[in-house]
Amino acid sequence: MIELKSAEEIGRMAVTGQFVGELLTELSEVAAAGVNLMDLEHHARRRVEERGADSCYWDYAPSFGRGPFRNVLCLSVNDAVLHGLPHDYVLRDGDLVSIDMALAIDGWAADSAYSFVVGTPDPEDLELIEATEVALEAGIGAARAGGRIGDISAAIGGVARSYGYGVNGEFGGHGIGRTMHEAPHVANDGRAGRGMKLEAGLTLAIEPWLCRTTDKIRYDADGWTIRSADGSRTAHSEHTIAVTAEGPRVLTRRAGN
Ligand code: MG
Ligand code: MG
Repeated sequence: MIELKSAEEIGRMAVTGQFVGELLTELSEVAAAGVNLMDLEHHARRRVEERGADSCYWDYAPSFGRGPFRNVLCLSVNDAVLHGLPHDYVLRDGDLVSIDMALAIDGWAADSAYSFVVGTPDPEDLELIEATEVALEAGIGAARAGGRIGDISAAIGGVARSYGYGVNGEFGGHGIGRTMHEAPHVANDGRAGRGMKLEAGLTLAIEPWLCRTTDKIRYDADGWTIRSADGSRTAHSEHTIAVTAEGPRVLTRRAGN
């Protein structure tokens, strides 16, 4: 069932979204060559607790992971793209880091992901990140009342292909609200004009992710961390948005993003 949210409920999701955006920015500023991934995780745990927020990841136990997730961040470095398990790893100059975080405040969730390079970037990594960000903005731009969910998917896939990247269809965006994952699924490729009709009050997490030279993935033995099948670098950009009568509203916007 898809629950349309009132303006007041969207406003409550925006409160969570603002904190998610601020904390993602803060974490990207803490991340630097020489910083351990577990320091980022512990920094986030502290800030989440101080704010009185709940992590939607903590104790999350979907079919694919081995055991419940016991972290507040997904930290995916280089060829890791989704669900990266925070672990004892010291960031190096040039690493491509994706931070994904979903929190709830007073029962309303927001989910956002951000990719960036620590230190000196490889221009091809910057282009990959740019492609996910442009695809995300295109998807958001297509999230209009009266349109179809396929409009969002087609917009994302079109941008990815225009950059020369393949699109994997296994993981994509989702409805969000009282919980992190709700219906509908928002595929990262598809056909405009197809699928569910978009209505004001629909709240979605839109999240293109791309690998440089493959559209295939593989899983680590932990069942969580998902990597590009060929070891090439990856990027992931995600915002929580609301479809409103006035157009799409981004609830997790960060300064500059
Ligand atoms: Mg996410
Ligand atoms: Mg998500």
